[in-house]
Amino acid sequence: MWLIVNKKLKKQDVMSMWNSSGNANYNLLCCSLCTSGPDSHEHLFFECSFGMQIWNGVKVLAGIEDVCNKWDSIYEYLVRFGSSKSARNVIGKLVVGAATYFVWQERNMRLFSTKQRSASRLVEIILATVRLKLHTMRFKRTGQVERILQDWSLPRGLLFEDDDCG
Ligand SMILES: [Zn+2]
Repeated sequence: MWLIVNKKLKKQDVMSMWNSSGNANYNLLCCSLCTSGPDSHEHLFFECSFGMQIWNGVKVLAGIEDVCNKWDSIYEYLVRFGSSKSARNVIGKLVVGAATYFVWQERNMRLFSTKQRSASRLVEIILATVRLKLHTMRFKRTGQVERILQDWSLPRGLLFEDDDCG
């Protein structure tokens, strides 16, 4: 996640700077997900039409539908709520992390193999991954948290009452 935030991913645009011979394969500089945009950091997260489908598929359940599909908005969201422990923000951050990870993985898979997954399949995988993680957590019972657990089809056993702590 920090690699992404710090824009230090070993991307083709970064790699191309190392190629001083001037005979780079320019076919490789095209985004492997939508095959139309450039393979740049700004494009992939999430200006790419493929990345956009992923983002739109996960953001409502993540409770971050107010964050627009621009890298700067997502970055701002992470900075603003980075230390928040509320269920909504913890889930939002997990979803952003999983979405960026799986978009990045898909981009690499398409670049280095012939395997492809559809955007809707990736959305399923991202949400299933986050749901699995949420199963390992416990949430203080509030009206909002109960609704969130319902939205994610999570068992009420993950809730604890305030007086359970002592
Ligand atoms: Zn693209």
